[in-house]
Amino acid sequence: TRQSQKLPAFGGVPISCPNGVASTAACYQGFDPAAYLQYNYTPPRADFQRKDSISSWELACLHRAFTEGDVSGELLVDIGSGPTLYQVMSGCEVFNKVLLTDFLEVNRQELRSWLQDEGGCSLDWTPFLQHVCKLEGRRPSAWTEKAARLRQVIVDIVPIDVNRPQPLAHDALPSAGADCLVSAFCLESASPDLAAFTRALGHIGRLLRPGGHLLLIGALGMTYYMAGDGVKIPTVPVNEAQVCASLKESGYTLIRLEVYTVPQDMNVGTDDAYGVFFVKAMKE
Ligand code: SAM
Repeated sequence: TRQSQKLPAFGGVPISCPNGVASTAACYQGFDPAAYLQYNYTPPRADFQRKDSISSWELACLHRAFTEGDVSGELLVDIGSGPTLYQVMSGCEVFNKVLLTDFLEVNRQELRSWLQDEGGCSLDWTPFLQHVCKLEGRRPSAWTEKAARLRQVIVDIVPIDVNRPQPLAHDALPSAGADCLVSAFCLESASPDLAAFTRALGHIGRLLRPGGHLLLIGALGMTYYMAGDGVKIPTVPVNEAQVCASLKESGYTLIRLEVYTVPQDMNVGTDDAYGVFFVKAMKE
């Protein structure tokens, strides 16, 4: 297959054997969007009464990055959206077009359910919308306007594979590329090892115009996460130095790296990350 490596065998006859990318992809067949949302996007991890909850920290990083004034343009692309929307709740105010992407149809379906607003969503995003409104200095009740804005600017929800040199269908983007990429917990979750993580950073960089920004969120030191009852997805553990080196190797200039250390009570047993990183970078 495309994702197989030719290895020399006894007698010099090459044999085909699936490499790590293919086995990571196979693990995703059990991904349960509802369970994943429950593990990661409800309290204690998403508790907006607490500034030190994981989601509070992530939304604050994204708010800051999108409102500093240097990130702008027409098109924002979210890489590996999964079943989640929090990562574009600040960006949707800056960009007139937002493209959501994911590897799995079940996740794209979850996003379409929210977009169509006809019920059937696995998670109520209202607390997230309210919290981002608060960060923007708006009254919490403005969340309905933010939801309407988000539904208005999402132009499509399309398949992606960051392990391919061309991750999107050839006609998914304008030829100039995206003005900004945001990606949360995707690359380390889609890569079997550090080399694949670095390659994936390069692949997604090809979707971005020169001078465009990358806002990257990821887990630190994570070897697995649970994505459903008994669904354990192996991931590549990365540290801050490795993220910086991979960015440099893949043609990005680092603007800022922020690190969050997971407090003991946010360790809910569904992954083994010690922290979360937030990167603001620019494509050279
Ligand atoms: N962005 C969401 C978030 O912040 O919670 C979801 C992150 S989830 C840990 C990892 C996501 O990567 C899943 O939605 C999965 O479908 C996606 N994924 C797995 N393999 C991928 C690949 N080869 N290319 C792109 N996305 C992939």
